[in-house]
Parts: sequence; C-alpha cells; structure tokens
Amino acid sequence: MDKITDKYHQPVNTDPKRQDLLFDLKEVSKRTYQLGLSALSLGVFLSVYDAFIGMYVSSFLLACFCLAILMFVVLKWQDAIKDLTISIFSVICGLLICLVLLEGLQTDQYLYFFPALIAVPLVVDLKHKQGKKPGIFVGIMIFAFVACIVIGNYVPPLADFTAGQSARLALVNRFTALGSTIVLAALYTFFEKKYIEEIVSQSDRVINTKTQFLATMGHELRTPLNGIIGIVNLLKQENSATRQAEYISILQSSADHMLQQVNDILDFNKIEAGKLELHPITINLSNFLLNVCLPFKVLSANSNVEVLADIDRQLDILVLADDMRLTQVLNNIFANALKFTGNGYVKLKATCLKKNDKQIAVDFVIEDTGIGIDKADQEKIFEGFWQVYHEGTRELTGTGLGLTICNRILQLMGAKLSLESEKGRGSKFSFGLTFNIAHVAPLPIPLKPVADNGDLKLLRVLLAEDNKINMMVAKKALTSFGATVDAAYDGVEALARLEDFPHYDIVLLDLEMPVMNGYEAVFEIKKKYPLVPVIAFTASLVDQKMLADLLASGFNDCILKPFNPQQLSTVIKKHTGVKEGV
Ligand code: ADP
Repeated sequence: MDKITDKYHQPVNTDPKRQDLLFDLKEVSKRTYQLGLSALSLGVFLSVYDAFIGMYVSSFLLACFCLAILMFVVLKWQDAIKDLTISIFSVICGLLICLVLLEGLQTDQYLYFFPALIAVPLVVDLKHKQGKKPGIFVGIMIFAFVACIVIGNYVPPLADFTAGQSARLALVNRFTALGSTIVLAALYTFFEKKYIEEIVSQSDRVINTKTQFLATMGHELRTPLNGIIGIVNLLKQENSATRQAEYISILQSSADHMLQQVNDILDFNKIEAGKLELHPITINLSNFLLNVCLPFKVLSANSNVEVLADIDRQLDILVLADDMRLTQVLNNIFANALKFTGNGYVKLKATCLKKNDKQIAVDFVIEDTGIGIDKADQEKIFEGFWQVYHEGTRELTGTGLGLTICNRILQLMGAKLSLESEKGRGSKFSFGLTFNIAHVAPLPIPLKPVADNGDLKLLRVLLAEDNKINMMVAKKALTSFGATVDAAYDGVEALARLEDFPHYDIVLLDLEMPVMNGYEAVFEIKKKYPLVPVIAFTASLVDQKMLADLLASGFNDCILKPFNPQQLSTVIKKHTGVKEGV
C-alpha cells in the first residue's frame, strides 16, 4: 500500500501570512466593536437606573452617551470613520468628566476609569508596532482622570440630588465598575495566554521545519554523494578504460542530480522569501512547447512510454512569457510523469481557450497513464518536502519540492496547478495561463561559438579563487583553450599580480574570498586598471537584481559555478573583443 512517507514529519508551512496571525488587527478591531456594545449596554442600564432613582439629568446624559456610542459604531460599520477605538475612549472620558461636573465625586462614577484602562491593551494591539497609539490612549485616560478629580474637588455639583440617591448610585457604580474590571482583566489574561501559546507553537514550527529541512536535505544529498564516493573508489581500483567511461558518466549524473537539488532548495528559499521574479521575453508558444517535449521524446525513445504533444494550431503565435520558469514547470511535471509511468503514454496538451488582439488564454494538461496518486495524497504533494512512497516500484528520489515550486511559480503567473488522478490509472496535471500577445519578433538567438582547443591561446588570464579544487578545474579548462593562467587565492594577491603585470586580458574574480572579497577587489582593480574586464565567478544563483548589483560594483559580467567550459570560453571571448574567433 502506498503511504505518505513519514520520515519528513509534517509539511512545511512557511506561509508569511501565518506570521501575522498573532497581530491580527481584524481581531482587535472586532474586540473594539465588542467593547463599544458592552459600554452601550452598561450605559443603557445606568441610564435606566438613574431614571428609576429619580436622577433624570444624569439619566439623560447617559442616554446621550449611549446614542453617541451607537452612532460611532454605525459610522464605523459603514466605514465612514477610520478609528472606532479612539472615538469610544474619547466618549467614555467625556461622559465621566460630564458626570463628575453634574454629580461631583460622591457617586463614585470615576471608578469606571479602571475597567476603561484595562480595556486599552485588549483593543489596542500593544505588541504590534503602532507608533504612539497606545501612549495616546493612556495619556487621554490619565488626563481625563486627573480632570475628574480636580473638578470633583473644586467645582460644586450642578445637579441637586439627595444623600440617599447618591448612596444608591455610588453602590451600583462601585459594583458595576468592579465587575467590569474583573471581567476585562480575565479577558486580558485569556488573550495574553493565547498569544504566548501561539508564540510557543510558532517557534516549535520553526524548529520542526529546520529539523525537517536538514533531515530531508541530508538524506537527499547523501544519496548521490554516496554514489560519487563509491565510484571514485572503483576508479582507483580498476584500470579498464571502458569501465572508466561508464564510471565518469555515473559521476556526471550524480553531480547533476546534486546540483538540481541544490538549485531546488535555492529556488524554494527564493520563493518563500518572496524574491522570485518573472522575466518575460517574446517566444513562439507552439515552438516553445515542442522544444520542451523534445528531450523527453529522446529520453523515452527506447521505453514502453510514448511522449505525445497535442499543441493547438492557434498557439503558433508570439507571446510574452518567462520561458525559463515555464520550462521549469513543464519539465518538472513531465519528468515526474515519465518517472511514474511504466507503460502507455505521457501527453502534453495545450489548447487555446480564448484569444483576442491583446491576449490569449491557454489551457495546459500533462496527462500520463502511470501509477496515479491516491486521493488522500493529492493535496499533500503540493506541500514542500512531501513525497509518496510507492512500494515495490522505486526508491524515493528528489526533495519533494518540485511540485511546490511549480505551484508557486504558477501562482506568480496568476495560475494554479490542479490534479486529477486515480490510483493505478494515471494522473492529469493542468493549469491555465493568459499571455499577452507580442507584436515584435524575438531577437534571433546568436549561435554559440564553439570553443576549440587553442581558442583562447593569445590570452593571459588572472584567476582569483580561494577554493583549490575550483581553481584547478577552472585553470584546466582555461589552459585547455590555450590561455595562460595566473592564479591568486584572494583579492589582495590578485591586486599584487596586477601590480606586477597590468596587461591581463581578463580577470576572473571569485566573490567569496578571504582577506579581500571579490566586491572589494573589483573596486580596487577598476580604480587602477579601468580597462581590464573583470568577470565575477560565483556559486550564487544570480537573478536580475544581483546581476545589476554586480554590474554596478564594476564587474563586466558573471560566470556561474559550476560552469560549463563552453560558457566560460564564450563569456571570455565576449569581453576580450579582438580575440573573438581566433
Ligand atoms: P520530487 O521533486 O521529489 O519529484 P515533486 O514535488 O515533484 O517531488 O513530487 C512529489 C511527489 O508526487 C512525488 O514523489 C511522487 O510521489 C508524486 N507524483 C508527482 N507526479 C506524479 C505522477 N505523474 N504520477 C505519480 N506520482 C506523482
């Protein structure tokens, strides 16, 4: 029976919206409504009681207070006022001052300042940075309280009432003020407890996520790494040339697998940090889709699975799309479909749903006749690090991040990945995208010059790289193209080399180096030798922003590690101009 693998524990939920749960202002504003309605009920009760004991002016004042509260609640409901909290507190303070003017201090109405003060942290979110707001509330209350005491002591009461009336009202005021203080204090304790519990559970979630992440990555990276170590041992023991070629191809595929996983993690991290950007370019949609299918057709040529492409003729059109990210999505779904299909077909169907002068809506379906996914697992495979363990078919491979990344990329494009699948009968992944139609033909892709041995033979290159293995690999590639390479192991050494020989054709600078890093080094180099092209050599995933930062720092271009020798030669030729085509 298939089951969701439990070695990765729970799915990661790093939705940034969760972080705001603690400070949900909507909840706080709901509490302000509740406070308004409680004050209204208390006001109605006291107004009726005052009338009952014959204190008609006080009763009228309380009725006006109730009307004012009701009016503010309704206005807020209609969105006619911005802040209900400040209105309610101002009306309460105004009422208490008026009541003291009317009745003096002997009816103990000023005791209502205590429940009102305790209500402040309930309706004003003190934990969420709101500038001076909490201070303003407390300031208003203290000012009104002092005003009441001063007025009560120095201004004679305006209304006439008997000692009996005053004593009865004071008793009711004391009880209701004490009762509401207790209720509000209990509520405050309850919400504080809830808040602390939420913080603890959030920190548990972060720890779980970290543990889960390390467990997953540790496992996933160890698998190809074990393969690499095993093959290196075999290479040391065996001398057969045919075997060596086979081993090297295994080494290459293990390394590619590891690189893919690291790229997945970097992508996932970028998405979670909200830093993934789309860079649309003009493409011919149907050509693009056929190109995506092509490698899968080649891969499945000798298998029992047929790769089919059913592309609507109307998609033979120029559109604006982020080709890299769309390829990533389609490749991931296609690769999964092929991985989990032993017999039958994997088909990409792209249909035009709607088209006008400006836009085209396209429905994409990738369908396979593979093992299918259990209903219970269908939601979970879109959550990071989830994989279904298919007993008896194959080992777990991958990080379980592929579909999560696809879904997030599609969300960024305004779409959602859907799945229909039946166990044992295959799966159907689908999504709909709307593209803007482009009216300018894409620039022809320049043919990459083929770097023959000896291509860079007239070049003298300065290579600054602190990692000895990376240095060895880059040096070998450059010397195999005929270049003369001088090595430096940090930025200071690179500067010293340039001091001895300022006529290098190009400088390759690793960004992360001890003593002086690439950014500091390029600054110094460009100051003294502005005409020498300097290329950043980096293992980071370079996005548009980072590329712009690199160019602004003085670099002329960048080469990503691990590099492809062909790309290295192309970039060097591009920046050494005259040597192109030598
Ligand atoms: P990974 O990167 O590890 O492949 P994915 O997020 O791409 O992770 O896929 C998650 C899981 O969903 C896979 O481990 C697999 O069990 C299941 N899955 C995805 N596509 C298919 C498919 N076409 N048929 C059957 N199972 C699939």
